[in-house]
Amino acid sequence: MSDTFQVTPWPLEAIPDVIQQLNATFKSGKTLSTEWRKQQLRNVWKMVNENEDAFREALTKDIGKPLVQTQVLELTLIKDCLDNLDKWLEKESVAVPSPFENWSPTIHRRPKGACLIIGAWNYPITLTLLPFIGLVASGNTGIIKPSELAPHTATLLATLFPKYLDTTCFAIVNGDKTVVQALLEQPFGHVVYTGSAGVGREIMRAAAQHLTPVTLELGGQNAVVVTADAKIELTATRIAWSKFAIAGQTCFAPNHVIVHEKVYDAFVDELKKTYQSYYQGKPEWKSVGKIVNNAHWERIMSLLSSSKGQIILGGKGNKDERFIEPTVVIDIDENDSTVETEIFGPILPVIKYSTIGDVERLLQKLSPDALALYVFTENLEEANKIISLSSTGTASINDCMAQIAPTSLPFGGVGKSGFGSYRGRASIETFSHKQSITTVPTVPEFEALMGWRYPYAESMETVK
Ligand code: NAD
Repeated sequence: MSDTFQVTPWPLEAIPDVIQQLNATFKSGKTLSTEWRKQQLRNVWKMVNENEDAFREALTKDIGKPLVQTQVLELTLIKDCLDNLDKWLEKESVAVPSPFENWSPTIHRRPKGACLIIGAWNYPITLTLLPFIGLVASGNTGIIKPSELAPHTATLLATLFPKYLDTTCFAIVNGDKTVVQALLEQPFGHVVYTGSAGVGREIMRAAAQHLTPVTLELGGQNAVVVTADAKIELTATRIAWSKFAIAGQTCFAPNHVIVHEKVYDAFVDELKKTYQSYYQGKPEWKSVGKIVNNAHWERIMSLLSSSKGQIILGGKGNKDERFIEPTVVIDIDENDSTVETEIFGPILPVIKYSTIGDVERLLQKLSPDALALYVFTENLEEANKIISLSSTGTASINDCMAQIAPTSLPFGGVGKSGFGSYRGRASIETFSHKQSITTVPTVPEFEALMGWRYPYAESMETVK
């Protein structure tokens, strides 16, 4: 189990050497050819496909519920990237004012060098390999530091990487925060960090010493709003699925639901029916997933026991199995312990609202800068109005977590849920530098035209 098995950490003294190696390879130009990048991407795909069983086993040991299909499905992004890479890497011509038209103004995508990806434990494959696709596709070398809280997956990645990928360019460096701190003592071309906001601040502070650019993928209290004209049965089914998948430990899963008073009772009834059909009255860790470790188990159970709401479904936990039943708590007050912070566990608090003014207040109080907002309604105008009431990284109407399905949509937070994004073309934008280039004509006619800028009398005459 994850609480006893641990990753083998990299010796701290070896870290400068691996970065030196990656920088040397980058300088050699090895990563620059598009064909080489594509081959490495095909190798990532091959690594995941040929070892799907091993990944499934590692994920099960780490977080109980594999969802391998989801993680592997996400990696179809590699195919998307292979299909579009030539287009994404093409230099862009830019429309400019007429005097500069014959300067051939163009934007070129340049790799940033050795980059670093720091992953979280909840989706230990996708949160490392998805940004890695962008890192490779952009022509960088780099390191992945997987979360030590998913040690089986982290160890598997470290074992497989050298078998499939060019070890002079890419490395898996395992370990805990001391390894992250040692890594960040070195300069990187870019750092992508996924995890909590508190650690995000530390990452930014450490990166600042080398002015290393960072992307922060953080969390937040994602709200779901269910309006009076939503299709309630479908709404309950979709919310319950997304909330309870991998025991509520998904960064853009719903945190709490805000339901219009007219459909509140109907929604609660539908949740009960859904619950019965999902778990046949007996949820267990095999169908829900485990809480990642004892500390998180205790944190979530403590949030639940301090709640003043009424538990209508679930509510029990088994510490030995690190299991918490999917739980629905109704009649939640906006000051309740369950909506005070991001739950990151299988507890669904339900709040009743009367007016759009209530929705606005609740969004601004409980979900400022959340990673996602979900609205269930048959009235699209109302949905868009609700989405405009607060600032969130992403949003989806009539389903939760659907915004990541179209592979070309960028995924990222705003404000407290982070900044920057990746997936599809956004990955190339994150891991490459936009270099503007002009080619200025050297013909005499042009020089005559530009003579005004030189510091001698004749040119000043021209200006007059
Ligand atoms: P975690 O504990 O796995 O930590 C993430 C990484 O940070 C790990 O690699 C860890 O080694 C490193 N780390 C931890 N403490 C550190 C420190 N003091 N200094 C330097 N590095 C350190 O992840 P977590 O924080 O438990 O993740 C949960 C949070 O992540 C939630 O808030 C969740 O919403 C958020 N999250 C966001 C996304 C996203 O895509 N936006 C995805 C998953 C999780």
